[in-house]
Amino acid sequence: MIWNFDFDISAIVIITTLILYYVYRKPLPLIHNLLFLALMVLSDLVAITDVVASIMTSYGGRFTIPTLYGINMLYYLCLISVPAVFCNYAAALSYKQVIKTRSLKYIFCSIPFLILVFMDMITPFYHTFFSINSNHIFSYGGFRPVIFYETVLYLLVGGAFVLAEQTNLRVSERYSVYIYLGLSLLGHIYQCYINPYIQTVSLANTVGILIVFLIHQNPDYDRDRRSGMYREMGVAKMKTEDLLYGLNRSYLTVAVENYKELRSSYGEVVSDHVLFELGKFLRISFPRMNHFYVHNGKFVCDYARYGVKAEDYAKVVFDRCKEPFYIDGLTYYISSYIVYTDGDVVMENHAVMRDTMRIAADEAASMGAGTILHVTEAMHQKAIRSVKIDSALNQALQGDNLLIYYQPIYGIKERRIVGAEALVRLYDKEMGLIMPDEFIWRAEETGRVLKLGEQVFRKVCQFVKKSNMDSLGLQIIEVNLSPLQCMREQLAEEFQEIMKEYGVDPKYICLEITESHTVNIDVVRKNMVNLSNIGVRFALDDYGTGYSNLVNVLSLPLNIVKIDKSIVWAYFNEGHKLLTKVISMFENENLRLVVEGVETEEMACKLEELGCHYEQGYFYSKPIPEYAFLKYVTDQRY
Ligand code: C2E
Ligand code: MG
Ligand code: MG
Repeated sequence: MIWNFDFDISAIVIITTLILYYVYRKPLPLIHNLLFLALMVLSDLVAITDVVASIMTSYGGRFTIPTLYGINMLYYLCLISVPAVFCNYAAALSYKQVIKTRSLKYIFCSIPFLILVFMDMITPFYHTFFSINSNHIFSYGGFRPVIFYETVLYLLVGGAFVLAEQTNLRVSERYSVYIYLGLSLLGHIYQCYINPYIQTVSLANTVGILIVFLIHQNPDYDRDRRSGMYREMGVAKMKTEDLLYGLNRSYLTVAVENYKELRSSYGEVVSDHVLFELGKFLRISFPRMNHFYVHNGKFVCDYARYGVKAEDYAKVVFDRCKEPFYIDGLTYYISSYIVYTDGDVVMENHAVMRDTMRIAADEAASMGAGTILHVTEAMHQKAIRSVKIDSALNQALQGDNLLIYYQPIYGIKERRIVGAEALVRLYDKEMGLIMPDEFIWRAEETGRVLKLGEQVFRKVCQFVKKSNMDSLGLQIIEVNLSPLQCMREQLAEEFQEIMKEYGVDPKYICLEITESHTVNIDVVRKNMVNLSNIGVRFALDDYGTGYSNLVNVLSLPLNIVKIDKSIVWAYFNEGHKLLTKVISMFENENLRLVVEGVETEEMACKLEELGCHYEQGYFYSKPIPEYAFLKYVTDQRY
């Protein structure tokens, strides 16, 4: 009997290489990743034991009968394990299904496998899978097709897990599983029914594994290139598994305090390089921990898993930050702060944990570099609200249900309301009216601010179209732009289209940008120039709160500067002179000045004396809904 094991040899070479790379690149310690490793190792063993058993059986006379039974039984053991592990892998990929059918899964996944292991064990006595006679001749046993049935069962059950959970899985995950399933089935059908002497099972499994690896199991897909750490998504996956297995693991966030300055002063390449060096240092200092890069210079790690205390971890990080980072011969210093959970606050899910850590990080940031802060229950409660707001934002965006409030802007020369700032709000049945400070940052972080910005702009255009601006004495409606919107090359074109669609004269629109928009100044300038050319005006909002280069900012086509309320209040409350300096600084520029945060008559009069052109604040009105704003403007006119 001649076995052809050429396919096995190629399978061994491919899978062994994959295993070595997979282990070297250290995948996230998630159940499905470990099961994928098990699947590769077992498939490799199937091919190896197949070659060894085939050779030994061909030279039967040279080995004792028990040895021949042993090696062939080992081959069959590996062969029946592979589909069972695949089924578990598919189940672990589809998390929710595992929760719902956990016990069912174990029954399914273990009973057929255990029966076959038993049949393998009794092969020497009952010749279930094969037999070897006294002349060392090998023949197949009557129960060998049962292996095929077991394989089909496990492959189909694994496929069913994925099918049942398909909406929660990525297309790549689903299809790679189906491809593996199909190939493995074909390999078994060929070897079982067409030619048992050509070992196609290993080849089919290997090609299947290679496809799954290339499509979504490559550990590099979970890594962030900038820091060399795992991506933030990894924390969500770990947290999901924590919940699944009832674990309450502790996590810690390291934040680079001066990350934004580093980025705006030295640019992306240098700040990324510094982050990479810090990431490398952390990975080397705590090699067993898993580090995840979140964003904006923040890392998360599962520190407590290896018995390390948050304080000890913090000490290592803070000590490192005392030393400079050398990049291309230049030195850079960073400072950091740390927030951590230690298992006493139980996080419901990843979203709540993420927001709790963020809230804690904001608090630690206000306490300065070198702070180490323990997450409290109050922060956790705030985070629960923030997660609810996040889902309210999603609903509002999907249903186009954002609310626009208008805050009047008073013209000093005109002695009346000459415009308004459009300010977005969310409404939720349970939480009521939600202010932008609670959701804009999140919309920005997740890119949803693009959709939000477009919906706000459309609603403002709708308002301008239906109100008779001139007869109301209204000159402009100001709309806030997020930095992300400004950095889109298509912004000018899209806004132009929207204004055209609603028949709005661009002269009524003023777009507000802030100093933080000027990071990518060339794209911003291009958008501004294109829109200015058709008559749209631009205001620099919150002047005095950013760090940007004023020469750069003033080179943009701006019409208005809005002085931030903090500067106005500092003048009235503490006699701070910055306000007067800012006003005189802009005096000679051809710019109109708006002061924000005008809350009293006394402030209004004084600001007029100081030479401001427009005033905005609670003294005139808080932001109010559209109908109330129209009434306000109409009442003042008549
Ligand atoms: P902002 O653009 O600086 O808007 C002015 C904020 O100051 C408004 O807060 C307004 O209610 C508040 N304000 C005005 N006068 C006074 C006053 O006299 N006293 C006090 N205490 N506050 C005053 P609001 O509506 O909560 O908006 C906060 C921020 O959210 C805005 O600051 C803006 O940066 C952002 N935002 C609002 N709507 C949008 C939007 O449609 N898109 C984007 N990207 N951001 C928006
Ligand atoms: Mg504004
Ligand atoms: Mg402002």
